Amino acid sequence: MSKKIKVGNVYIGGEAPITVQTMTNVLSADVNKLINQVRELEIAGADIIRITVNDLPAVEGFKQAVKKASVPIVADIHFDSNLAIKAIEAGADKIRINPGNMTDLGVKKVCDALKYYNIPVRVGVNSGSIAKKYYEKYKNSDLALVESALDHVRLLEKNGIDNIVISVKSSDTVKTINAYRLLAKRTDYPLHLGVTEAGGGEQAIIKSSIGIGALLTDGIGSTIRVSLSDNPIREIEVGKEILRALGKDNNFVDIISCPTCGRTEFDVIGCAERLREKFKNTKVPLKIAVMGCVVNGLGEGKEADFGIAGGKEKSVIFANGEKVATVENDKAENYLVDLVRRKLD
Ligand code: SF4
Repeated sequence: MSKKIKVGNVYIGGEAPITVQTMTNVLSADVNKLINQVRELEIAGADIIRITVNDLPAVEGFKQAVKKASVPIVADIHFDSNLAIKAIEAGADKIRINPGNMTDLGVKKVCDALKYYNIPVRVGVNSGSIAKKYYEKYKNSDLALVESALDHVRLLEKNGIDNIVISVKSSDTVKTINAYRLLAKRTDYPLHLGVTEAGGGEQAIIKSSIGIGALLTDGIGSTIRVSLSDNPIREIEVGKEILRALGKDNNFVDIISCPTCGRTEFDVIGCAERLREKFKNTKVPLKIAVMGCVVNGLGEGKEADFGIAGGKEKSVIFANGEKVATVENDKAENYLVDLVRRKLD
């Protein structure tokens, strides 16, 4: 089991639940826009939010956002140790740096500030930031990512830091999986998972789901960030769905539905979609099945707490695998919703 690190009021690692992170994408210097986006991401369910601090005006935006936020805020620093120190002083709950891009003196000063404010740090190595000596030795490989990251970790440890989270991301899903598997064997610091620059749309969602999903299934990883060229709210939504699919978050209403086929005489797709929308904010472990025929539907939906098996004119409503009513199709969905609501009240 990995070490447990405290980030603001949230834990990463140990037995702590897996957290879902994202990053703001408005200009950090635009205080109002930044604060609004942080609020939107909190509402969407972000456990931790990262903000880039890329220049001095961004420090002010960051400071105001930290004051208003109710979730931990991480400062993303590229190479400027002075900005890292300013972000720490502005109230960062954690910083993300690439020590390979800083001078030794810069790293030392950042470490002194981390110790003084007692906050953790993430070292993040991507394919683009592999240290030269490892790139020459191992090219752009999983091993090069791991060796680079561990070098950074040793540098921080030499400066008295042991409050560390590590990431080794690649835009190549398989390389990402292999790198984290190697890394997990060599460290007990908690790992931040993600497939970097995964792209957008379904392709990116699939890459992240496979990469993050394979690792979490192995028991590797303590916090995740789905990287999408999209509104960061989508990153949170997809991240949460990954945790749900893996049984790491059971507090939700799972709407399962059949794929439909030539036997379907009921609006399975529409009904499932409406139920999903209706119960999307209900944080209770519950399974509802929407099936397109009575003959197979009842059997296939047996595992669900509630369900509907639609027929040509009438639908069968069931609870815990038992038939409880047969209702005209146009009233069936409401009947089911009432039944579920009674259980939830
Ligand atoms: S439940 Fe019935 S309608 Fe749905 S896919 Fe199976 S056989 Fe077809």
